[in-house]
Amino acid sequence: MKDCIFCKIAKKEIKSYILKENKFCLSFLDINPLTPGHTLVIPKKHKESFSDLTLQEAKGLFSLVKSLMKRMREKLKVGSFTLGVNDGDLSGQTIQHMHFHIIPRYPGDGGKSIHSIVKFPLGEPLEEIYKKLK
Ligand code: 5GP
Ligand code: ZN
Repeated sequence: MKDCIFCKIAKKEIKSYILKENKFCLSFLDINPLTPGHTLVIPKKHKESFSDLTLQEAKGLFSLVKSLMKRMREKLKVGSFTLGVNDGDLSGQTIQHMHFHIIPRYPGDGGKSIHSIVKFPLGEPLEEIYKKLK
């Protein structure tokens, strides 16, 4: 997509620190890392949401996530990670080209777990949600 910074990174039109890629996806260092090694994995084609990915793209993405985690364990000597996607405006997505964050975690990094992101359960019984989703 024209004017999408991550499309430009995928086409190598602008510089980024590319780590690994495959036919469908590409990974590179986040320009403003939350911790050393913070990496983004994107589909090469412009897709806004993770749910828009083809199965091949999803597989390509998770293949990179898996192998990068292994590399980070070895090379950065980390044993913990926070993994995730800000998917949609309300989640805090700032770049509308889907990207998966790999955030290596370090002793004393001050960060919290995914459970600290939001707490808004509204008291809806699990049974009701289950009926909608099943
Ligand atoms: P979001 O909040 O949309 O999940 O995260 C966007 C991420 O993209 C941020 O962590 C930000 O630092 C990163 N980012 C934004 N622009 C660039 C860029 O031009 N190059 C790289 N490598 N990362 C970027
Ligand atoms: Zn794009």
